[in-house]
Amino acid sequence: MSREEFISSFQDKLTTSFGKSMEEATNKEAYQTVSLILRDMILRNWQKTQNKQREKDEKQMYYFSMEFLLGRLIESNLINTGLEKICVEALIELGFKPEEVFSEELDAGLGNGGLGRLAACFLDSLASLNLPGHGMGIRYKYGLFQQKMVNGYQVELPDYWLKDDYMWETKRSEKAIEVHFAGNVQLQSADGHLQVEHTDYERVLAIPYDVPIVGYDNQFVNSLRLWSAESMPNSFHFHSQKGTDYYHYLDYKRSVEQISEFLYPDDSYYEGKLLRLKQQYFLVSAGLQSIIRRFKKKHNDFLLFPQKIAIQINDTHPSLVIPELMRLLMDIEKLSWDDAWDITIQTVAYTNHTTLVEALEKWPVHMVKSLLPRIYMIIEEINERFCQSIYFEHPALRNEIANMAIISYEQIHMAHLAIVGSHSINGVAKLHTEIIKKREMKNFYRVFPERFNNKTNGITHRRWLLNVNPSLAQLISNTIGDGWIKEPRKLIHLIKYTDDSSLQDEISSVKLKNKQKLAKYIRDEYQITIDPNSLFDVHIKRLHGYKRQLLNLFHILHLYQLCKENPNVQFTPRTFIFGAKAAPGYHFAKQVIKLITAAADKINHDPFVKDKLKLIFLENYNVSLAEKIIPAADISEQISTASKEASGTGNMKLMMNGALTIGTLDGANIEIRDMVGPKNIFTFGLNSKEVFEYQQNGDYRARDVYNSDQRLSAVMDTLVNQSFFQDDVEFKNIYYSLLYNNDEYFVLKDFDSYVEAHQHVEQTYRNESSWNKKSITNIAHSGKFSSDRTISEYANEIWNIHPM
Ligand SMILES: *Cc1c(COP(=O)(O)O)cnc(C)c1O
Repeated sequence: MSREEFISSFQDKLTTSFGKSMEEATNKEAYQTVSLILRDMILRNWQKTQNKQREKDEKQMYYFSMEFLLGRLIESNLINTGLEKICVEALIELGFKPEEVFSEELDAGLGNGGLGRLAACFLDSLASLNLPGHGMGIRYKYGLFQQKMVNGYQVELPDYWLKDDYMWETKRSEKAIEVHFAGNVQLQSADGHLQVEHTDYERVLAIPYDVPIVGYDNQFVNSLRLWSAESMPNSFHFHSQKGTDYYHYLDYKRSVEQISEFLYPDDSYYEGKLLRLKQQYFLVSAGLQSIIRRFKKKHNDFLLFPQKIAIQINDTHPSLVIPELMRLLMDIEKLSWDDAWDITIQTVAYTNHTTLVEALEKWPVHMVKSLLPRIYMIIEEINERFCQSIYFEHPALRNEIANMAIISYEQIHMAHLAIVGSHSINGVAKLHTEIIKKREMKNFYRVFPERFNNKTNGITHRRWLLNVNPSLAQLISNTIGDGWIKEPRKLIHLIKYTDDSSLQDEISSVKLKNKQKLAKYIRDEYQITIDPNSLFDVHIKRLHGYKRQLLNLFHILHLYQLCKENPNVQFTPRTFIFGAKAAPGYHFAKQVIKLITAAADKINHDPFVKDKLKLIFLENYNVSLAEKIIPAADISEQISTASKEASGTGNMKLMMNGALTIGTLDGANIEIRDMVGPKNIFTFGLNSKEVFEYQQNGDYRARDVYNSDQRLSAVMDTLVNQSFFQDDVEFKNIYYSLLYNNDEYFVLKDFDSYVEAHQHVEQTYRNESSWNKKSITNIAHSGKFSSDRTISEYANEIWNIHPM
């Protein structure tokens, strides 16, 4: 398509869809018009890809996830279809500002954080690598809440992302599926077969909405299928004489529609809410039934199923695929238990995302029994057979059976179900996989050593470099050619230029421009002026105790006190930037947010430190905000308590944009250090082994650390000193959790070495050439962290799917 053709379709579509002329068109209409043009093109390639796959009967992979944190798709779709340049030029020629037009798209925020964003990056890589792999998720009417700051406190507002039509979805009513809840199950034996009778169940209609997932420069288009729950008016029995039926029907309709109403806002946390269980089964049952329906169009032998279908479950959230696939194969397709079990195991693979106990899913037996009676029976049988097999085949583990059982103490352990019912169990970074094998799941590792493997996470370099940082992308291409776009490992060629002073200067001037742009955004949105020449220190991720935003804040308060004590202190001006949402019920996390904003208030209004320190808390951290911040970061804060962050992916995005990491030896930070070398990353703090030893021996005393470090006690005392923060706010709870509950996350313990690491950062930043050299080194090694590498590993080692 040429620019002229683009402009002429633009004018056409604007007239036929909105009845408007160019002069009257708003930014939103311009956005929708561009999307419509793009959609036509994508839909053609989508159909072609699907036809080809049907013809070839290629094995397909389905990625089941309760979360897909897509953000906006407009720019990614323009880049991947190769239309970006033409579209941008055309919009400018027509008098629009492309950036304003694109920002009319509302973020699809159907995820909490890393886990949901990973699923989105994986879809981009699958399509870009010509791999037949699709997403299965829920079309939540409300995504992750919008965070609004009121007096420095987080307030949650509903995220009604569907208020304008969603331009990328296609509703497929004709492919609806029925999902059944509750009711009674009777088992009968009929001519040697088990006959299962399910009666009095609630019927729910699952309607798929498909979103095309466009590959980069390959005309290859996969699908993300998002299911929406609808009631079935015709299935409702109107029979009462009293005229109350209508109200019963409305109750039923409301309760059904709730299923896909909203995303649970918890990250790395488990709550046994009935509606969440309903959501999980709804996704799993609708998804599997649609996969089987498609499979049956070509095949009647289910033993072929694992050769044609692979299913990956993103954490245990969709682990009901295991009993549901058993149910469908046995009750509907009439396979034996043994055949169904072999097929299920060979088909399903499980990704573990956390070892935090508070995040491990355990459903109460009574809940599963009443909501999913047949599924409960199958889980019981899986459990029975598994425990028997340990007893007879692994006598050394007999004493561990109670700890390994799927059902124990009236609870169903979903991680145990996922391990027992799948052929692959993977962690998401080397350290995390080792922790799973050696500690958290060591008994299971003894039984199934061949199932455990590592797949270090990645991010799509197309969105997180090419799209969000076009000037850096251009500079890289000018230096080493643009081969890195298709083969991100080629970024390593930059390593030859680390000492090249002209590249160093250019890297630094690209960074400065990105910082100026972010500074302008912050001035426009927050009326706060920050200095683009100061060091931008960025801490963006969900707010959680283990991610230790508190440690960062303590360091900032320490710097503040230093400046106050000694106005002549040698000082590198710094701007600290936070972005974080707290789960609405997570009281501690919300208090930390208030603490950050209270400190910001104090510091930013103190004329004494005016040119030295600024602290900004950016509201409503989401994908689009991340895209604004990351290109402008100098320092990336990755300071989780060692062993707690399974991988992290924010660390990878920032590294790829030339930020240097200050971090603990946790998650993928370790692999980042292994790539760039210890001189090009600032590590500090306890390692995971030391953390485990303290936990095991119980010999950590937070109080002693407090008493022995005067800088730390001076900072912490501001939390309970009524005169420090304005409005007499105090932060007793935080103070107590550190001193009286003994600092679960070792904030105090790591403070000293964190301060020291920051001094090292500051020294390094003063030497511009050395800093730029480290920055280039980080970019050069970031190719390993492209999700293209991760997805190739999954494809070859777990799914056995092939590029088409
Ligand atoms: C990448 C990303 C995350 C994950 O960040 P971590 O630092 O790995 O926790 C969370 N939220 C958004 C919006 C992201 O883009």
